[in-house]
Amino acid sequence: MSTALPAFSSIDPKHIESKLSSLLTQQREQISTLLNDLCEPTWDTLMTPLEKLSAELHNFWSPISHLHNVKDSEDLRSAYLACLPLLSEFSTWLGHHHGLFKALQQLKASTHFHDLDTAQQTIINNELRDFKLAGIDLSATDKERYATIASELSTLSTQFEANLLDTSDTWQHLVTDRQQLDGLPERFITASEKKATDCGKTGWLLTLDAPSYLTVMQHAKDASLREQLYQAYCTRASDQGPHNPDKDNSSIMHNIMTLNLELSQLLGFNNTAEYSLATKMINHPDEVFEFIDELLKASQPQAQKEFETLQHYAQSELKLDDLNAWDIAYASEQYRHQYYDLSDEMLRPYFPAPQVIQGLLTIAERLFHLKISECDAFDTWHDDVQCYQVTDQSGNLISHFYLDLYARNNKRGGAWMDDCRNRYLSDTNTLEHPVTFITCNFMPPTDDAPALLSHDDVVTLFHEFGHATQHMLTQVNYLGVSGITGIPWDAVEVASQFLENYAWQEDCLQLLSKHYQTGESLPAELFAKMQRAKHFQSAMGMIRQLEFSLFDFRLHIEFNPEQPDAIQACLDSVRSMTSLYPLPKYNRFQHGFSHIFAGGYSAGYYSYKWAEVMAADIFSLFENHGHFDPTTAQRYKDTFLALGGSIPPLDVFIKMCGRKPSTIALLNQTGIAVEATS
Ligand SMILES: [Zn+2]
Repeated sequence: MSTALPAFSSIDPKHIESKLSSLLTQQREQISTLLNDLCEPTWDTLMTPLEKLSAELHNFWSPISHLHNVKDSEDLRSAYLACLPLLSEFSTWLGHHHGLFKALQQLKASTHFHDLDTAQQTIINNELRDFKLAGIDLSATDKERYATIASELSTLSTQFEANLLDTSDTWQHLVTDRQQLDGLPERFITASEKKATDCGKTGWLLTLDAPSYLTVMQHAKDASLREQLYQAYCTRASDQGPHNPDKDNSSIMHNIMTLNLELSQLLGFNNTAEYSLATKMINHPDEVFEFIDELLKASQPQAQKEFETLQHYAQSELKLDDLNAWDIAYASEQYRHQYYDLSDEMLRPYFPAPQVIQGLLTIAERLFHLKISECDAFDTWHDDVQCYQVTDQSGNLISHFYLDLYARNNKRGGAWMDDCRNRYLSDTNTLEHPVTFITCNFMPPTDDAPALLSHDDVVTLFHEFGHATQHMLTQVNYLGVSGITGIPWDAVEVASQFLENYAWQEDCLQLLSKHYQTGESLPAELFAKMQRAKHFQSAMGMIRQLEFSLFDFRLHIEFNPEQPDAIQACLDSVRSMTSLYPLPKYNRFQHGFSHIFAGGYSAGYYSYKWAEVMAADIFSLFENHGHFDPTTAQRYKDTFLALGGSIPPLDVFIKMCGRKPSTIALLNQTGIAVEATS
């Protein structure tokens, strides 16, 4: 078994481009030689060598791409940007390789194909499908155009993300009157003062990283301060607000949409949404609209009531006659505090990061019969990072994962899991073990307290760890469909959303909590309040996610390149159906919607909700038998966690649940009255 982990510290931006370039040249030669010498394509003669090359390239690039996300610098960014066209050219070359396509077709048509196992057959079928989607049947001119578009798209989405990061990192607001900070938690004020001091300033420095922004929006009593941050945040990388106009994403977004449409039509699809569904679990646009519509109709009456309650409360208790966009989070937090007597800040002291991590690992060990231990010495990119080894109960190595939990400059915002290495059995019969990155942006420790997580943060950590379980516990031995590889986007969030449920169980919360000063675990009355508050504004939350899904999906069907304001017009039209309150004209939410413009979720954002439907349905089985029930857990491990992308997700679901997914469990778990759906 191979146990080597990447050497991050020896990655030198100066050499990245030349190393990649020679690796790609070498791979081109190896593939050409392989195909020239090939008489009879079989798994061993064709696929095994290809998987090896693919692993080699992935293992080279993945740590670099990761560093670009978590430790960006000018040198690294320019090396990274210089590499993107090389990678894109290579994958286009490979995706248009007639010799390889013919060899795969030959393999598929041979009697040998029927002797292969399901995972192997799926890989070959996926490859053939992807060849068609990569335009193997296109004319020479169209192929050339395809290559240009692919390369431009890759550069554009990186620019989109860079503009967003730059405008987020650059903007700051120095508060010099402490009164303006009324309502904000003491430790946040201390951290803001330190930020100012670190920059040689006197006062309190407010920034736009997500934890800082959200804290101000929820707690600052001063409406003008909230408005200022709101405006700066929702105009990042746009033509509005206080940002550098050179960092405006408007034309980048229009170009991304235009090129995506051209690419889809080149391949014979009517629009980008149809192109997107060619590789998804859901097959037809109507099925997407139907399931969104079902959830929307069930949620809207309750969402309207929730909003009216908030409006009434804001008028009578907070003297806010008009509930503005920058008042919603604040009023909601005040309402929640008053009626549920529960705020993020009340819970944070119970969730010091070290305890949460220990609890999470204990839960994972128990549920999946694992042993997880922290590595003492490993090569890293930052002192905050921890590395863990996962073994079975007899001590056999299964995988490694990295935890990088705290927000800092030059680190992309948000939380995500990424594959560093994939499990596969190499040509020398060596089992490569999977390695994953788990990255979050929690508020870091201060001088006098450990990092204290909100319960949302805890749920986020479970979400990303859930992804990691699917990557780490796969039993598939072939690179193309092992772990998270080869799983359609609209099924890829099942394992993550499933595991979130464990951050809500009372026995699990006992393991996850330990007051950082008193050492006491979460008191029963606080748990009861959390349960009550769990469904607070749940229909409003549902509508918000459905709005994003609908905007994304409709945009990729309706987009007209001739219409300069096509993106804004589509968003306005969706909002006219979904919005509970008007937003300021300057709001440019879409300019920061990385998921669809830079994250591969174009015409696929609905995937989150669809996966939630499935995850809720699966967890309802655990609710029936007990959430640590060994039989149910084993079945889950044998299906969703073991099978990777080797069989279609609907079949995996049916193996687990014995039937097709239904929206009932999700509506139930969200606290939305199910009878309203009929
Ligand atoms: Zn996820």
